[in-house]
Amino acid sequence: MSNPILIDPLKFAREGRSLSGKLPVSELDERVHEDLSGTAGEVEYHLEGFRDPLSRLSLRLKLSAQVTVSCQRCLEPMPFKVETDSVVTLFTQQEKLEDACEQDEELDAILAEPELDVSALIEDEIIMGLPLSPKHDECGSEALTRAKADKPNPFAVLATLKKSRPE
Ligand SMILES: [Zn+2]
Repeated sequence: MSNPILIDPLKFAREGRSLSGKLPVSELDERVHEDLSGTAGEVEYHLEGFRDPLSRLSLRLKLSAQVTVSCQRCLEPMPFKVETDSVVTLFTQQEKLEDACEQDEELDAILAEPELDVSALIEDEIIMGLPLSPKHDECGSEALTRAKADKPNPFAVLATLKKSRPE
């Protein structure tokens, strides 16, 4: 288990508090490490409490983490940057939470406990922010190593176009 960062979520949101910090990746929970190829790097986080337009107490967590994942093609390490920005809406009654989720499928809601572990929230976000199948743009050429988004590489598309053009 990682060291918990405990807050009272309702109070935190009601008072509009904020909390920023850095955590070494090596201190995160084992379940995060399982998805990584190494434990180097750190996570920068910023948590803010606020009321949303419907006056519901909410938390916004922004984080940026530099981690290392394994390339699914060559199995070598590959640096990857996780950047997330998410809002979680707090509820005190299960019934209200369910109603709200039914009305808004995008809503990320939790039942507010007296104590919330911010590090667990950070760990969940990192796990969800990791690519399912990371691959180097070009395996074996470290200089060109970067995380490939799920978009086709525009240069690769250009190269195919050039090739298919009649001489
Ligand atoms: Zn690779």
